[in-house]
Amino acid sequence: MPNLNIRRNDMVKVLAGSDRGKTGRVLRVFPDKGTVLVEHVRVVKKTVSSKRGQRTKGGIAEQESPINISNVSLVCPNCGPARIGYRMDGETRVRLCKKCGQTLPTKK
Ligand SMILES: [Zn+2]
Repeated sequence: MPNLNIRRNDMVKVLAGSDRGKTGRVLRVFPDKGTVLVEHVRVVKKTVSSKRGQRTKGGIAEQESPINISNVSLVCPNCGPARIGYRMDGETRVRLCKKCGQTLPTKK
């Protein structure tokens, strides 16, 4: 089971690949594929051709590609990459850093 603790807008650190060591914000999570799209990570340049009838200019666009969720680690605002645990806060399950106990906000 892949690590599905990661949500959109989380800060993550890349653990493997050519962008190893980079941190970025999660733009999208693809739970069925087990991949995430991270801002400024694994950016590929795509050639955009101008289409007839459109006023868009051809050129080069940069776009992130998804990376495997197991290659990223959630970043705690206090201590950096950290293991994430859970705690029940009333009826809701909140995520927290196992190192410092800081709860991590879950934006929806
Ligand atoms: Zn922490």
